[in-house]
Amino acid sequence: MEEITKLKNELERTKTELGILHEISNAMRTTLKLDEILYIILTGVTAHIGLGFNRALLFLINEKEQLIEGKMGIGPETGEEANRIWSQIEGENMDLYDLISAYKDSSKTENRFESGFNKQVQHMKTLIHDTNKNLLSLVAQEEMPLHLTEETIANYKNTPIVQMLKSEELVLIPLKAKDKINGIIVADNFITREPITKDDIRMLTMLANQAGLAIENSQLYEKTVMMAHLDSLTELWNHGYFQYLLNTELEKSRTTQTPLSLLMLDIDYFKVYNDALGHQSGDKALKELAILLKNQSRKMDFVCRYGGEEFAIILPQTDKKEALLIAERLRMDIEKYVFVHEEILPNKKLTVSLGIATFPEDGLLPTELITASDKFLYQAKNKGRNKTCC
Ligand code: GH3
Ligand code: MG
Ligand code: MG
Repeated sequence: MEEITKLKNELERTKTELGILHEISNAMRTTLKLDEILYIILTGVTAHIGLGFNRALLFLINEKEQLIEGKMGIGPETGEEANRIWSQIEGENMDLYDLISAYKDSSKTENRFESGFNKQVQHMKTLIHDTNKNLLSLVAQEEMPLHLTEETIANYKNTPIVQMLKSEELVLIPLKAKDKINGIIVADNFITREPITKDDIRMLTMLANQAGLAIENSQLYEKTVMMAHLDSLTELWNHGYFQYLLNTELEKSRTTQTPLSLLMLDIDYFKVYNDALGHQSGDKALKELAILLKNQSRKMDFVCRYGGEEFAIILPQTDKKEALLIAERLRMDIEKYVFVHEEILPNKKLTVSLGIATFPEDGLLPTELITASDKFLYQAKNKGRNKTCC
């Protein structure tokens, strides 16, 4: 009789566990956005209706830079905060889907709740092949789950992750993409101090396998979207995306009542350069110019290829005076730069002409700003080229 009750209980638990995993994997299929996928994974790990851990952190492997980077952390910082959050979720009867749609909605209003814990996690990074005793690199290299109990965690008390989390028990699980590890989930029960069981780890491992694939798909998707916005020759934003950016940046300027400048730039006598040296040399010069523009502009600026040998740079929060300084600096940098065989050009140098239009004085709409900057660019050409007009 006792045996049967035991079996029944075990069956019941397996059913619940499968139900939870099913629900999380369904949720992961509702989006391809990486941050939403990460949020779903961590909510699945921490929510009571999920795996029920107190805290969870997600790290992604950046192969290119050989780094393990903190991406997101969910969890209360104190017992009081835990009570507040958990009773709110319970009080509002929120299930996994409610939590996820609340997160998706928060991105629309741009006031997504950012906890201190989350920020801390986002600042963490470590080398994949760290020579120090580093838990994250250990898991990434061994590709195996790691469960640190009260006894074993003492050996790792100096590693950054244990120092930050101050956990007494911790579990780290690698995320598996098709043929490699692409991330790590870290989880603990910092508030309730409930022991982490074999079942917890088994569930977390099953979740991690699905999570790894979902992340890989989403990264692939984001890369594709990104590439669709880039110009293939110069890797700058393409014409279509320029229009989108100008629209959205102008909208921001309107609501915050800040200026915005648009810089239009055209290479001088580029037809001569092409005709003399061939289109491939022309293309090479375009690429080099694109790199120069990108390197010499600010992080907040959007450097775009408007078409052919014309470039547009959107300068948010920049008035005409400042835009003129930026444009002149660019113009002189280009004049100084040595392009192959530029001596065949009429001025013996490859140069550019620039036109600047500023919101709101030169126009309120995207089309008005483009027309105005074009007009000033034309003036710069007429005044002898290698000039900026505004
Ligand atoms: P201006 O000083 O008046 O601007 O003279 P320009 O010769 O540069 O005249 P325009 O701006 O009309 O030049 C367009 C030329 O740029 C035509 C073509 O030879 C060249 N061009 C446009 N797009 C490309 C491109 O993608 N690759 C190459 N190699 N050349 C291009
Ligand atoms: Mg042109
Ligand atoms: Mg030209």
